[in-house]
Amino acid sequence: ILGDINVDLTLQIPAYPPEGGEGIAERQSHGLGGSGANTARILAGLGLPVHFIGKTGRDNWGDWCLAAMQREGVETRWVRRDEAEPTQLNVVVVSASGERTMFAYRGANARLAAEEVDPAALAGTALLHLSGYALLQAPQREAALHALELARAAGIAVSLDIPAGITGTIRALVLPLLPAIDILFLGEADARLLAGIGSDAVLDQAAERLVEAGTKQVVVKRGALGSLVHSRQPRVVSPAAQVEAIDTTGAGDAFAAGYIFGIVNGLAPAGASAFANAAGAIAATTIGSGAGAVERQNLVAMIGNMDIEPA
Ligand code: ADP
Repeated sequence: ILGDINVDLTLQIPAYPPEGGEGIAERQSHGLGGSGANTARILAGLGLPVHFIGKTGRDNWGDWCLAAMQREGVETRWVRRDEAEPTQLNVVVVSASGERTMFAYRGANARLAAEEVDPAALAGTALLHLSGYALLQAPQREAALHALELARAAGIAVSLDIPAGITGTIRALVLPLLPAIDILFLGEADARLLAGIGSDAVLDQAAERLVEAGTKQVVVKRGALGSLVHSRQPRVVSPAAQVEAIDTTGAGDAFAAGYIFGIVNGLAPAGASAFANAAGAIAATTIGSGAGAVERQNLVAMIGNMDIEPA
């Protein structure tokens, strides 16, 4: 997995924006975050061997992140340390009504260079997962593209998760990559934007167009509506789990982990989607990324509660 690793500093405040510009939080917590890191730790927790490629600062937060990743079973020997930029610290403000406001400085993450991606990190792997944030800025963008090339040359499958809100920025870069992507995760609005069709167009059309552009599986995350997969096979529509979402931070990262877990274990898109929606729902019902809560037992229990027709 190549992507961001950071500390999420979560403050729970009664209302946002705070009155008078000064908010006293009712609770403070910090945890490991970063889209790529979240997906990595969930997959490691589910028992898959996971190597993480990324960068932290050479600072205490960086040490803390690496120790946390290692405790969760992720191989961190390919993580570089930056001498100039700090480890990313995300300040996440969650209001009592569940709205989330995030402030982030990408720091060391964006400084991963192509030459810092060791081809040995990919040796023997079944799949390279890229977090879309890695495509935002150079030199991390070149590092991600380099890893993608290495994977393709070695016949390794590639997945890309595009988080909400950045598709406009990376669209021109992603379009020519579509034939090289085996599994593309993205939201509804992003699917339409990437496919270049109007916002009122049928979602299936957008996903279909991305498959025609060469991506093998287009997996659309639809929040409380679940997900949709388009590929060369008939489309797969999957329900979300019925839960009371309290903080959807990390739901997309968990969703990707669940889907990848299913695919790597040989499941078809319908089965992988069940794991994905269950993992996303668990993350959505946990304050913070929720990655620590997505465990095999919880996943199986969540799938048991979901409205899925037997295959
Ligand atoms: P992102 O976090 O990338 O913006 P979504 O908000 O679509 O993506 O969430 C990703 C996945 O998490 C969804 O496809 C769904 O499986 C799950 N999820 C998110 N919100 C809810 C919800 N309110 N109820 C049930 N599942 C949810």
